[in-house]
Amino acid sequence: KPLVIAIDGPSGSGKSSVSKEVARRLKLAYLDTGAMYRALTWYCLKTGVDLQDGAAVEQASKAMPLEISTSTATEYVAVDGTDVTDEIRDPLISSSVSAVATTLGARTELIRRQRELIDQHHHRMVVEGRDITTVVVPNAEVRMLLTASEEARLRRRGIQLGGTQSKEQLAAQVTQRDAKDSTVVNFTQAADGVVTLDSSDLNFEETVETALAIVSK
Ligand code: C5P
Repeated sequence: KPLVIAIDGPSGSGKSSVSKEVARRLKLAYLDTGAMYRALTWYCLKTGVDLQDGAAVEQASKAMPLEISTSTATEYVAVDGTDVTDEIRDPLISSSVSAVATTLGARTELIRRQRELIDQHHHRMVVEGRDITTVVVPNAEVRMLLTASEEARLRRRGIQLGGTQSKEQLAAQVTQRDAKDSTVVNFTQAADGVVTLDSSDLNFEETVETALAIVSK
């Protein structure tokens, strides 16, 4: 029986960790679509593609040899044979990724690959990103928007990055990135039929349990 759980939300909402845990408990595959945009950014920077050149970024999205794990047991992203799992989390990638993600031709290609991966897993997958509930799988069995207050999101991202970042650096990586991203995808408001899960006052376990309750409703 197909069970696609589509989860969207801004950065620092806890989307990745919650989505992965939901997939683990329900024994579903898991796809982090943000990692695909990050991988493409890495590939463009590596091959000298000008991120402002939309046609070149689109071309790169089609040419990029990408391998991404869809299992909750391993986190693995490789581009053209190079393991970039850790490197794509670098602040340099975070600050450049919006330029790639706002290139519509590149989005079309990555969305095509995402749907292909969902097909390969017979539609039993947790898929997480910014446009999953609205564009990638609008007919998913379960659709939710995971939100949190800006304060909570900045705090969580700060902890995730080891507590070494200044307030300004964090704002650049969370607030400004969301502002850029939301020029092409809407993840600040739940679309029709999408359940909002606000995790501002919930801990990780409570958030996972609330998400699981939404799934079994
Ligand atoms: O989720 P994460 O923060 O890793 O996503 C990185 C970037 O990828 C986002 O800032 C956004 O620019 C892009 N993205 C997107 N659509 C998605 C997932 C991510 O545009 N479905």
